Amino acid sequence: MKAAYLKAPRQFEVRDVELREIHEDEVLVDVRACGYCGHDNILASYHAKEWEPFGHEFSGVVIRVGSRVRGLEVGDKVCIETNMFDPLSDCARNGRPDLDTAPLGPSFMNLDAGHRGGMGFAEQVIVPGDLCVKFDGISFEEACMIEPLGVAYDIVMTADVRLNDDVLVFGCGPIGLMAMKLAKASGARKIYAAQHSGSKARCDLALQYGADEVILTDKQPIEDYPFEKGGVDRVLMTVPPKYMGEALAVMKAGGILSFAGISYDEPAVTFDSNKVHLDKLQIRGSNAIPALYFPMCIDMVKAGMVELKPLISHRMHLETLPEDLARYYAERDRAVKAVMVRE
Ligand SMILES: [Zn+2]
Repeated sequence: MKAAYLKAPRQFEVRDVELREIHEDEVLVDVRACGYCGHDNILASYHAKEWEPFGHEFSGVVIRVGSRVRGLEVGDKVCIETNMFDPLSDCARNGRPDLDTAPLGPSFMNLDAGHRGGMGFAEQVIVPGDLCVKFDGISFEEACMIEPLGVAYDIVMTADVRLNDDVLVFGCGPIGLMAMKLAKASGARKIYAAQHSGSKARCDLALQYGADEVILTDKQPIEDYPFEKGGVDRVLMTVPPKYMGEALAVMKAGGILSFAGISYDEPAVTFDSNKVHLDKLQIRGSNAIPALYFPMCIDMVKAGMVELKPLISHRMHLETLPEDLARYYAERDRAVKAVMVRE
């Protein structure tokens, strides 16, 4: 079977790999769609020093089921949680499974995937049965974006967006765009989107996904923007941490900044802590480990609350993945989400 591997800087190749037999608690999934994530981009751009399989946003069809797997049959359509909380952990037993950030068993976020033979950019993947969430009524392409939609949902819930809040969405990648829709549905009064003008497609989509105004960060410092209320109540931040100071600078008293923007090379940041103190600002972390909210996200897509297909700017194929990804990187002005599809 074929599986794709990456190595920094932005090298990709498709290899023939041998899959081992599944264990009794695992299933074999025939991959139908896999999304290229910002995290994959970080790995490919600088973090992966060795060749590694990649792709954690995927959907497919169950084609083999281990003897101890519950609730799955051959032929089921599934999307895959990247990892799972431990139901026996203190967090889970105290009613906060979301705080169990040390995932149980294998994770599709770390790249120790050799034992599984690969990740989502492959023909088939061995998956723990408990990580499979069944779906119907949405396409495989949409289903592979349920994982990032769960990330967007967590960012919005973490920010506690309320009726009449003015919200700044910093970064209009797929997750920022999904978060706009959810913030609007949560009652946001006005949504400001901040995005570099080099990504024209993202700026255009921001308006389509609920932004009232787009701030072009390379043309105008966010601090100088004439916010109608003089600032914003909430910030949903999906850009690298170095921009946190700029975001905090435009927050109104009592504001909450929800942050999901990992950086392996520049995690330390500087900001005006006096403003945080005096204006009683809150910085809250959002993290998609453990992966949660899949059934709810499937429901929201079915109901049309968030459209996922307009986010797909590049459709790719496993056989031509290196060339397809090169094209995705070359076409930055129109690049939003790249998704591999398999018929
Ligand atoms: Zn992802």
